[in-house]
Amino acid sequence: MSRERLPQDRPLRDATRLIHEGEARSGFGEMSEALYLTSGYAYDTMEAAEARFDGRDPGYIYSRFSNPSVTTFEKRMIALEGAEAARAAASGMAAVTASLLCMLKAGDHVVSAKALFGSCRYVVEDLLPRFGVPSTLVDGADLDQWRAAVRPQTRAFFLESPTNPTLEVYDIEAIAKIAHDAGALLIVDNVFATPILQKPLKLGADVVVYSATKHIDGQGRTLGGIVLGSEKYVMDHLHTFMRQTGPSLSPFNAWTLAKGLETLPLRIERMQDSAGKIADFLAGHPKVTTLTYCGRPDHPQADLVKRQMTGGGTLVAFVVDGGKEEAFRFGNALQVVKISNNLGDAKSILTHPATTTHQRLSPDDRAAVGITDATLRLSVGLEHVDDLIDDVERALKAV
Ligand SMILES: *Cc1c(COP(=O)(O)O)cnc(C)c1O
Repeated sequence: MSRERLPQDRPLRDATRLIHEGEARSGFGEMSEALYLTSGYAYDTMEAAEARFDGRDPGYIYSRFSNPSVTTFEKRMIALEGAEAARAAASGMAAVTASLLCMLKAGDHVVSAKALFGSCRYVVEDLLPRFGVPSTLVDGADLDQWRAAVRPQTRAFFLESPTNPTLEVYDIEAIAKIAHDAGALLIVDNVFATPILQKPLKLGADVVVYSATKHIDGQGRTLGGIVLGSEKYVMDHLHTFMRQTGPSLSPFNAWTLAKGLETLPLRIERMQDSAGKIADFLAGHPKVTTLTYCGRPDHPQADLVKRQMTGGGTLVAFVVDGGKEEAFRFGNALQVVKISNNLGDAKSILTHPATTTHQRLSPDDRAAVGITDATLRLSVGLEHVDDLIDDVERALKAV
């Protein structure tokens, strides 16, 4: 097997590393990464097996622990994120759950922003307390609430920024400082920002998690996730948890995701460009009462966006004039944009959070995170932007 031969004397840009990082060619010298679809590994001798297990030989042992195709994906993500170490997971939720459970025990306490992806909210609000880890949910934009929620037992802070679906932005640097003063780690779910547009570790976060199902795959093919952080966090907590409990990423999905990373910068650039144009179109439309896009100067936290993101992203949130009926009429009139709950796909996707991703929340809880019956989330894909604007314009006539 031949390893990558990248220049060591100068830093390479993300776009280059995402194509070449973690190459591990087999004896055939194939150009495209080999797919190591194997559960186990054979040893030449009994002594070789012993050396693998006692750690003298760092090679592969079993694909629940590690696999060359998974390693390629992890190496590309480590390079992109500027992390020391990472472990890939079977889905975004496997990654989120592992990032918390691996380091918590009964008696610990977690503080989390309340505006979370529905399943993340379940983990923090329902699952952790069942195992003796109470959580306090705060308004993530209010730094005083983070400070006030801290207890002597607080071990972790958790947040997403921008939030789903209302695209609120939280001050990662300031919240990391509050977490560190409390002796806690800050875990950031960076799905909405993407690893291209926001680098939470550079802003002071300790751990970053992704659903790779979204922009990283970017073509709606596989589930996947990853947790990235310091060597210490991974070796003290995550490594053993992942290895022993088994939420491992399949080699096939890892291969798909590693290939997805090769085109990620290009895709994000195009999707973001289109999202900005669609947001500008919606902002001036009489049937749209609220428009939120992180890349617009009228975003409520435009200054913060400028400080911690390098672009406005690929998602647009808006409220149509009316209620559920008008929102449904808009969605049903779309022809190019598909109705789904995924995001970050090459195909543009419309979601009605109140009846799908956030259906589990009570109407009061939804209101508390800014979701109304007329709130819609648009994940902008790779179609021609003019076709998307035509589609949205036509559908707004139905409202
Ligand atoms: C989709 C998503 C997840 C969960 O990821 P899966 O791959 O679907 O398990 C977690 N957080 C955010 C912000 C997401 O968008």
